[in-house]
Amino acid sequence: MNEEVRLEGVTHVYVTEQGASLAVEAINLALAPGEFVSLVGPSGCGKTTILSLIAGLLRPTQGAVMVNGRAVSRPDGKVGYMLQSDYLFPWRTILQNVKIGLELTGNRTPEAEERALRLLEEMGLAHTKDWVPQQLSGGMRQRVALVRTLATEPELLLLDEPFSALDYQTKLQLEDLIVETLKKKGKTALLVTHDLAEAIAMSDRVIVLDRHPGRIRREVSIPEDIRKETPFRAREHPDFYPIFNEIWSELEAKNAGGRSRHGEEEDRHADAT
Ligand code: ADP
Ligand code: MG
Repeated sequence: MNEEVRLEGVTHVYVTEQGASLAVEAINLALAPGEFVSLVGPSGCGKTTILSLIAGLLRPTQGAVMVNGRAVSRPDGKVGYMLQSDYLFPWRTILQNVKIGLELTGNRTPEAEERALRLLEEMGLAHTKDWVPQQLSGGMRQRVALVRTLATEPELLLLDEPFSALDYQTKLQLEDLIVETLKKKGKTALLVTHDLAEAIAMSDRVIVLDRHPGRIRREVSIPEDIRKETPFRAREHPDFYPIFNEIWSELEAKNAGGRSRHGEEEDRHADAT
């Protein structure tokens, strides 16, 4: 099978002045081209670490990280990264912000600029191209961040909790827009979220992580009937909540175990929503 992403026996240890801390251990993961996969788990379980390894921002302590069949050694224009904070430069216009990615990757050609402008149109943002970020709502700003990420034509998108600073309605709209856009363009995506409903509604597959250290606990393939709905409609599907409840009870059981070992009852309530 050709794979967009493959992690083989990946372990990562952070070394700090306080000592060494095992963040993720023995992670095996593969994403097929065009697949949309979510990683869920409580905060601190290593989700961002896994994305940083795939993005080439960190080197694994052990194991192999491959993107498109090649070992990852540094950040690469073929991988786009989108974060919770949009990191728009306040003094640049929207269009100038969108072009930053092109400048950084040395792709600032007339064709690329034209493509960026078309993407802004597709996202309903053409009228804002000469505005500054301050004039935009949080949801619009995240749409700009998405355009900036897509403008460099990455094959793979890494999305690290991109909706968590948004209000619920905006988040639902953006979920639909992202899934529709990435499916239409045939992109592969790995979404990190602590919101289980969001993961199920958006993904082809959901991967549940354990923590201390982060390990893959379970993988759940989302049935075709739910996948073919938009994330908004998926939540209304009769099979949605049975799947939600099944994974939820597993997260609860896991955290109950974690509590007795680590005394972290409060984390369960804070993280699992
Ligand atoms: P998540 O994204 O799931 O919240 P992270 O990948 O950020 O988790 O962190 C996993 C673990 O690694 C946590 O215990 C965190 O404290 C630790 N960690 C993350 N980044 C660093 C770092 N730069 N230095 C040391 N420890 C880190
Ligand atoms: Mg994180």
